[in-house]
This record gives sequence, C-alpha cells and structure tokens, in this order.
Amino acid sequence: MIVIRNASVLRADGIDQSTVVIEGDTITSVGTEPVSNGARLIDAKGVWLGPGLVDLHVHLRDPGQTWKEDVGSGSRAAAAGGFTAIVAMPNTVPPVDGGSSAVAAIERARAVDTVDIVVAGTLTEGRAGKEMAGFDAMYEAGVRIFSDDGDAVPEAGLLRRIMAYLRDLPGAVVAEHAEDRSIAGEGHMHEGMVSARLGIAGLPGVAEDVIVARDIAIAAEMGAALHIQHVSTARSVELIRDARAAGMSVTSEVTPHHLALDDSALEGLDPNLKMYPPLRGAEDRSALRSAIRDGVIDAIATDHAPHAPSEKAVPFEEAPRGAIGLETAAAAVASHALGEDQRIFFERMSISPARIAGLERQGRELEPGSPANLVLFDPARRWVPGSFASKSQNSPFAGMELTGRVLATIYEGRVSYEGELI
Ligand SMILES: [Zn+2]
Repeated sequence: MIVIRNASVLRADGIDQSTVVIEGDTITSVGTEPVSNGARLIDAKGVWLGPGLVDLHVHLRDPGQTWKEDVGSGSRAAAAGGFTAIVAMPNTVPPVDGGSSAVAAIERARAVDTVDIVVAGTLTEGRAGKEMAGFDAMYEAGVRIFSDDGDAVPEAGLLRRIMAYLRDLPGAVVAEHAEDRSIAGEGHMHEGMVSARLGIAGLPGVAEDVIVARDIAIAAEMGAALHIQHVSTARSVELIRDARAAGMSVTSEVTPHHLALDDSALEGLDPNLKMYPPLRGAEDRSALRSAIRDGVIDAIATDHAPHAPSEKAVPFEEAPRGAIGLETAAAAVASHALGEDQRIFFERMSISPARIAGLERQGRELEPGSPANLVLFDPARRWVPGSFASKSQNSPFAGMELTGRVLATIYEGRVSYEGELI
C-alpha cells in the first residue's frame, strides 16, 4: 500500500487537497486516511499529483541503433520524466511495417515493467513511401497508430488510398510527419533572418504547411482520423483550427522544445538544437503556445530522438537531426507554456494523448477504481538538467534552469522512478 498525503490531486470535478491510497495496481480511496500499517507514506504538500504522462512520439532506436538508445534505457528515461506510457515510433531498423515486426516489437515492449510501450507501425512498406504497409496484420497484432515519421507520405494519391483503408479499422490513426521534401530540400534550420545571418541553408515553414493542408483535405474527403505530429508553424495551427471548427477529427501534438525555444537560440550553432522540424521563428512559437493553451493542439509529445555524443560532436550542418526530450518534457512545458494550470497541464500531457492512442489505463483522473499510473510533479522546484538516464545526452535543455520537477512516477501501483522526494 502507498499513501500519498496533502498533494494537489487532479480529480474529475476539480483539484482536491487530499490523501490518495494505492493498493495493488489501483487507487482504492481518495480523501480518507486509511489505517496504514505497513503502508509507504509520502507527504506531498504543494505537489501536483495527476495521471502519469503519456508521450505519443518516442524513438527507442531498438532494434537497429541500440548504441543511441534501447528499450531498457528508453523506458528508464521515460519513467524519470514522469511517463507511464510512450508510443514507440516504427522507424527502427528494420521498421515495424507488418505482422511479424509488430509482433516482435510488442513482445519486447511487454517485457518492460516500468512503462507501457505502445508500438506504432509504418504507413508504407519499408517506410519507403511507395506501397501501403501491412495494415491488417499490424492491426490484428494490436497496432493503432501508423506513421512514416521522419518522412511524410510523399504522394497524395498514396495517402488517399491509405486513408480509405485505415478509416475502416476502428481506432486506427494516420499520424503524419508533415514535411514536403521538395521544399525542405537540404535545409538545416528554419529559413528566416537567423539562417540568413548565419549563412546556413534554411528549411521554410511552408514545407510543413502544404502537407498539413493536403492531409486535412484528404482526411475530410475520406473521413479518416488524422494526427499531425510535431506541429511547428503558425500556419499549420490555423489550418488545424479551421478543420476542427468544421467538425473534423484532426488531432495534433507539439514538442516541448518548440514551445520553449525559437531559432534565436541557434546563434551558437549547437548541434543539440538541430532537429526536424527545426526551431521556428518567434511568431510561430507564440502561435504554438496559444494553441496548446486553448486546446487547438491536443497534446505535448517529445519526439525523443537520441543520438550518441560522438554523432553530435560535429559541425552543425553535419549533425544528425533530433533531440532527447523525455526527462525534461514536464519541466520545459511547465516553465514555458502550462505551468500555472494543473488541469490543462495534465490534459495536454496525459489525458488527451491517452485518448488519441486509445489507452484505457492511462490519462484517467484520480478516483477510487482508477489505475495507479501516476506522477508527482512539483511545479515550483527549480533545477538544471545535467545528465540523463537516456543512453544519449543530446538535450536542448542541458545547463538551462527549468522550473518544475518530476519527483516520482508510479506505474501500475509500483514506484517506477523516485527522484528527490519532497
Ligand atoms: Zn518526425
């Protein structure tokens, strides 16, 4: 039994200062103090207690690139970041694009007992952008989220056939990395004043906007569920806002780094700040912040993308794209976007992503009978990220002071991470 006292508890009808009792994998009471012989007592005054965080976008690099990350190190990083469920992107080597690769990935995920690893599958065979992936076999194995993350589906006709197929599989979601390669070219950072001054090839925001517009048009025709990954431009936000106003089921996510930083951070050409989509301009960032507050963007997702130190220790233009994010997400989001409002913080970091992924044991308010997947988060604690549980250390937030810290994570009733408790 675990008893958490005095926390600020996220309940269905508001925030309560109460005592939460966990027995086995379930919350058994909220509000009444039990006779607690042998219980573990945690006094959590001033600390937020809510459903464990859910990340729709994680690269575990396993199989194929386990020098960057593997299922074990990635799940420890997730627990340290307050996550109780993560969606593993399918761009492993080989990719998850059919029944046998999905079954193998799901078996590896099931062996982990610190976080739910939800396996996503590709949209196209081999992630090559030519033929549809093996949807029936993946769906049969339990896959619901499909993405060619790293690339958009290159042709509108193929995407249309994919949506026509997936709309008939209940719960299936087409998740798109929105980037038109013919526009993006070989850009290394956002195309704007900063790239011009630095003389670095730029990646225009319209490369994202045209794919978002195309996908919304096709999803509207087909009636498929569309999820836009790592939204980064103000124009994408407008397109999504309009689609939702028209009643479409378009959901989206934004990363903590796109909320916290803009391209002015790139003056020093730190390779750890190189990611796709790139950090955009200040106006894009403020549009993203408004959209995550008002709910046009549903979810925070990290796009946790580990690269080994030696791979990032090269000039900016040669560095691989991507940044780790699991262990700093909650703090970066609280510091730069959602730190004042416990309800909205958990909506965007747990409840909405759990709903998009169709996860019944995640993203639930704390009531008797709710699953004990929880995070204790101190919104006022200041700290400076330094080293990480991830195998890779390519964080855009290393050395930067953040406000808000995960103190403990509870997965299925067991403490999966314990930091400096209270
Ligand atoms: Zn992506």
